Amino acid sequence: MIAPVMPTYSRVDLAFENGEGCWLFTEDGEKYLDCGAGIAVASLGHAHPDLVETLKAQAEKLWHTSNLYRVPNQERLASLLVEKSFADTVFFGNSGTEATELSVKIARRYWHSAGQPRRNNVITLEGSFHGRTIAMISAAGSKKLTEGFEPLAPGFIQIPGGSIEAAAAAVDENTAAIMVEPILGEGGIVPLDDGYLKSLRELCDRSGILLILDEIQCGIGRTGRLFAHEWAGIEPDIMAIAKGIGGGFPLGACLSTEKAAVGMTAGTHGSTFGGNPLGCAVGARVLDIVSEPEFLEGVGRRAGFFRQRLEGLVDGHPDIFSEVRGYGLMLGIKCRVPNGEFIDAALEQNLLTIAAGDNVVRLLPPLIMSQEEMADAVDRMERAASSLSR
Ligand SMILES: *Cc1c(COP(=O)(O)O)cnc(C)c1O
Repeated sequence: MIAPVMPTYSRVDLAFENGEGCWLFTEDGEKYLDCGAGIAVASLGHAHPDLVETLKAQAEKLWHTSNLYRVPNQERLASLLVEKSFADTVFFGNSGTEATELSVKIARRYWHSAGQPRRNNVITLEGSFHGRTIAMISAAGSKKLTEGFEPLAPGFIQIPGGSIEAAAAAVDENTAAIMVEPILGEGGIVPLDDGYLKSLRELCDRSGILLILDEIQCGIGRTGRLFAHEWAGIEPDIMAIAKGIGGGFPLGACLSTEKAAVGMTAGTHGSTFGGNPLGCAVGARVLDIVSEPEFLEGVGRRAGFFRQRLEGLVDGHPDIFSEVRGYGLMLGIKCRVPNGEFIDAALEQNLLTIAAGDNVVRLLPPLIMSQEEMADAVDRMERAASSLSR
């Protein structure tokens, strides 16, 4: 008999009752160190006092009015994002997929406004992940996402990542945009080279097409910069964010330059729940904290320590691991054993990690994780690796 909750996940048989900082507690009080942060969502950890206070204060005032009226919290968060990024304008939704999907809509509408509606193809990278709607599984194109869900949405072309020649060869008179994750997340923590990102930017500039970045996982301080593309010294035309911006409240956003958003006039897009007062209050508080230079510096410093310790772990267990990769606190350990075996062994040590493609174990701890907690996490991984070696 099918479970009341549709069985689309293979869940660990574990439920948490409450959380505090980087720790999660089960009903019977057992504690787990969280190196997953609910897939890079709990950017400030669990039950951050400022976020709890912000959410409670807004909950007592007003929950929802719809986008038929002005939403001051939305205006505040949009202004903050504009101030701290390349963007001139922001649309709020409730998830990552809505943000990537809108990114594609903006790009197509841009060319529609330019009188070239046939320029509607979007180039993406093989192994990427942009969400689960029909259009976004079509965008990523991998069989794992699309099988049985055909017919797929047309207008997406996948190319191998890393080759600027492949990207240049894929651009033609029907190309609207290129959409990439600066660091492939689900694909196995695969950072794109700064040089490659720069070349993509130049290719877009040369051919007039738009560059869309999916920073849903790598954005909001995760790499030690507010946005991952800052490392490459480039700016996109359109960018999708979600996950970390809400700190646990479902919130996504699509950021755009004024130029790219030229076609997005009244009536062209909408969302009932998007940008509601609760989510935007929390989002603004998260952004206030995370975008502080000292906060980002701290992430970079502690990430450096974590990385060093993880390199030591990998060197000490060449039978289990082959490499550490990623940026900041978006790290992946490529395994020689099936990644699930290590994740289960880590779970035995009360450490939460996440699987990713390419047989990688993902580490996406809350950005507030202390050096002591990182050392503790690596100790747990040592014990997990030793239990597999035996
Ligand atoms: C999680 C993720 C998405 C999808 O976000 P949802 O909130 O699950 O819709 C899209 N792109 C990337 C890079 C992601 O990590």
